[in-house]
Order: sequence, then structure tokens, then C-alpha cells
Amino acid sequence: MNADVKPAVGFGPLVTEPPEINAVGVIGAGQMGNGIAHVCALAGLPVTIIDIKQDALTKAMAVMARNMERQVNRSIISSDQRDDALARVSTSTDYAAVSGADLVIEAATEKEDLKRLVFKALIPHLKPSALVASNTSSISITRLGAVTDRPEKFIGMHFMNPVPVMKLVEIIRGIATDEPTFQAVMALARRLGKISAVAEDFPAFIVNRILVPMINEAVFALYEGVGSVSAIDDAMKLGANHPMGPLELADFIGLDTCLSIMQVLYEGLSDSKYRPCPLLVKYVEAGWYGRKTGRGFYDYTQTPPRPTR
Ligand code: NAD
Repeated sequence: MNADVKPAVGFGPLVTEPPEINAVGVIGAGQMGNGIAHVCALAGLPVTIIDIKQDALTKAMAVMARNMERQVNRSIISSDQRDDALARVSTSTDYAAVSGADLVIEAATEKEDLKRLVFKALIPHLKPSALVASNTSSISITRLGAVTDRPEKFIGMHFMNPVPVMKLVEIIRGIATDEPTFQAVMALARRLGKISAVAEDFPAFIVNRILVPMINEAVFALYEGVGSVSAIDDAMKLGANHPMGPLELADFIGLDTCLSIMQVLYEGLSDSKYRPCPLLVKYVEAGWYGRKTGRGFYDYTQTPPRPTR
């Protein structure tokens, strides 16, 4: 626009300040939920974690305390910071407990139907101004936002595992996400000490679009007998300089989550190159989800964990 031509009063773009985020709710107390609560509490934000299972909440508090203790021992935080942060975290099995939150971050199990039910149950309890983010690894932010009453205040905030250690957060706008919501979560990511990468709303976004097909290919290599679990992981650690082998990483992410991401890629991009490896499907059917269930490509009841193939 010509710099001399000023928009008439009342017809210029609406300039809205990004909403302030002073209290956070987290839905799901699994490995991601407790990590997200951990970094928010350390950044000075009161956090309420919701899970359907009381034991998941109890475990999340214990894991958070243990992880903060490790940070104290490494002089990353002081013991006062740890105590203050833990005192900012509360838990509940009732969605009403997040009614005061300015932002709710959903980190429940990676299943679209389940997440839809979570949003349906959550929305009636929220302030009209509250923002909603999903930590989904792969599901369309536009589709998830559409089941809420506020698609313009809905956004993807994809943290990496383990959240207190990993620097990146992918930020994903759905088609309806407005600018103040985007700016508010970008500012929150900075406050949490994270670096953002902005991804478009395509299946699995950036990191998992590239990472999980590589993991799936490693499972195919195992399935076809190209190499053993140790050979495949050693090859990628020593030959490609990856800090973890792909099968070790799959166990760390959770094989159920890896399979869900491959299914989203396969269906969302309609391309057979994303078909999940039958061996990955079989492990998930057996309930062998990796570290969180004690068995995946490695057996975690042994020290060090023993390859299962
Ligand atoms: P997880 O299995 O460790 O935890 C999921 C939690 O959600 C469980 O505690 C479960 O009880 C709870 N839950 C299930 N239904 C619920 C409901 N209706 N209401 C409230 N809580 C409910 O899974 P995770 O690895 O923490 O993954 C959570 C989300 O984060 C998924 O969307 C996943 O794709 C995403 N994510 C995972 C990773 C990873 O490396 N694991 C990384 C980035 C993002």
C-alpha cells in the first residue's frame, strides 16, 4: 500500500493484543503431559493437570519431582525453584478444575476419536477467552479445532520428548486460528525457554513427517531380517551419528504413538509409502508399547535393556 494512503478510521485491520497466559491446564498426565506441566511450572505458571486415571496423576507428580531433583543435582535449577514449581502444580480427574485456565494444552492419547471426546467434555468448563492447544503428533489441527466452539483460539503446540530437555516446539495454525492466538503461544514458547518452528497443518507436521517414516523403515529392516535390533540401532548411531538408534527411539516415543502417526500419514496423504510395518502393528496388538509398558524392541525389565530380537 502507498505509505501516504492511510486506511479510513474504522476500516483498518483490527489490532488485537495477544491474550495474556497466566494459568495453564494440561489434559493427560502421561510422559508428555507431565513434561509440559514441568516446564510451565518452572516458568512461574500455575498448572492444573487432568487425567481420567488417578494413578496417572500420582505417577506424573512423582516423575516431575524426580526430574526436577535431577535438574537441582545438575545445578540447572535451585532447590527453591523446584519447591516453588512443584507447589504451583495441582491435579484433578475433573475437567472443571481447569475453568480458570487461560490456555489448556491437550496431551491425551494419540487417537482422534478420544481427543474429540476430550474437547467435547472440556469446552463447557472453559472461560470464553481461553485458548486451547493440542500437543498431537500428527492429527489435523483444523479438524480438532472444528469440534470446539472456538476454532480461532485453537492451535497446535507440539512439544518434543523429554519436554524439559528438548528445545523445539512446533507451532501449527489450523485454517481458522487467529493471529492473537498464534502470537500468544509463540510468546509462551519463548517464556518456556523453547525455540519454535512454524509448521503448516499437514499430517504429522515437520518433525514426525520425517522422523516416524524413518522409524517405520527401521522396523521393516528388522521384519525383513536385514539386521537385528542391535545391528540396526548401532548402524544408525555410529553410521549416521544419531544419538539414539531408531528402534530405541521408537520404544522411547511409544510404539502405539508411532503406529498412530503412520496411520495418520497413510490415510492423510493417501500414499502407500507410509504403510505401517506389520511388525509394528503386531507389537502394538501385543501391548508391547516400549518403555512405558516395560517391553518393545527392548526388554526394560533387564539392565541394560535387552533386545527382544
Ligand atoms: P501417554 O500414553 O504417556 O499418556 C496419555 C495420557 O492421556 C494417559 O495418562 C491417559 O490416561 C490420558 N488420557 C486418556 N484419555 C483421557 C481423557 N479422556 N481425559 C484425560 N486424560 C486422558 O502418551 P504421551 O506419549 O504422553 O502422548 C500424549 C500426546 O502427546 C499424544 O497426542 C502424542 O502424540 C503426543 N506426543 C508424544 C510424544 C512422544 O514422544 N511420546 C512427543 C510429542 C507429542
